[in-house]
Amino acid sequence: MADGTISETWDQQSGPDIVGARLDIDLAALADNWRNLAKQSGPATCGAAVKADAYGLGMAPAGRALAAAGCETFFVSQAAEGLALRQAVGPDCTIYILNGPLESALPAYRQAHLSPVINDLGQLALWRDNAATIGTRAALHLDTGMQRLGLSNSDCATLQAEGFNAAEYGIGLVMSHLANADQPDPTDALAQNCLFEDQIDRLGRGALKQSLCNSAGVSHCRQHDELAHDITRPGIALYGVQPYRGANLKLKSTVKLSAQIVQIRAVPAGCPIGYGGAHKVTRDSVIATLPVGYGDGYIRALSHAGLVDIDGHVAPVVGRVSMDLISIDVTDVPPALVQQGSPVTLIGGKASLEILAHQAGTIPYELLTGLSHRIPRFYSA
Ligand SMILES: *Cc1c(COP(=O)(O)O)cnc(C)c1O
Repeated sequence: MADGTISETWDQQSGPDIVGARLDIDLAALADNWRNLAKQSGPATCGAAVKADAYGLGMAPAGRALAAAGCETFFVSQAAEGLALRQAVGPDCTIYILNGPLESALPAYRQAHLSPVINDLGQLALWRDNAATIGTRAALHLDTGMQRLGLSNSDCATLQAEGFNAAEYGIGLVMSHLANADQPDPTDALAQNCLFEDQIDRLGRGALKQSLCNSAGVSHCRQHDELAHDITRPGIALYGVQPYRGANLKLKSTVKLSAQIVQIRAVPAGCPIGYGGAHKVTRDSVIATLPVGYGDGYIRALSHAGLVDIDGHVAPVVGRVSMDLISIDVTDVPPALVQQGSPVTLIGGKASLEILAHQAGTIPYELLTGLSHRIPRFYSA
């Protein structure tokens, strides 16, 4: 049975109430976030990074919602993602494939009218020979500080010496990626921008469009509009997450994970909870069990560290996260709110992705992209 079928069935059976665990995804908030990021991109147009299944939200529904809001440029990592996105958003949008083209993937580019991001001189030669029959224009990725993908300084010098002509190579966009923009101090981002400008000068500006900013970069555009260039590429902020602590983008949350309490029990002081008895309650406690675990993407690093929101009350995760279950200490929550079947918010409200990621020693990106498809999804537009 397809995911959608299961979701619909469960939804009908449960009516407005939740059953087990559920993931609510707010596509209207996603569209609002894109519109706000477009405003905050200053003079640039705003694209969207929707790789990794739109950071876990679902590429097709997210892509459609963004296209309907006016987004015309999408970034994914792999050609296979581009094929799926093309089906969802139709023929008019530009879809860039960040990881660049392998020869074996060229038929996919041709079929779905995909635009590669060229990351080295070998890919550039491959593209020059195939651009005409594929019919799209590529982006050229210039490395300004990641040492990961993109042309190096010396590659740019080589091209300059050869009298590089972007049109001849089927290139329409130059881009780079910020390594260290996710902090309040924009110094590193501005330094990378200077390198980016130098490299573009070498290649010749011509009619080339330019792109530099991820979400963190966009957060610096208000103070430094030279970072905006022509197209911005926010990802995480689209999904309602601030790119770093202290960032102040105008965003709405798009994801809520909730579950009903499976069981409530009174646990006397000194009793161990869960695998390994890794947590012992220090007082007579009320422990609730929730039907979510690391098998759902509620990662094990949230053991003893996660927290949930129960109608505005915060309750901690106690003991280890199991595959399918967690225990929370609800001793201090009003009993009326914590009965078998009561709803609990695992992601959302006071249990924000930012806080949970901090507690688990990771970043919100990892929590979002890891949410399992076992959890039934409900989209609202
Ligand atoms: C993922 C990605 C983005 C989006 O980054 P966020 O930090 O999620 O905004 C932009 N550009 C490139 C090249 C990326 O790989």
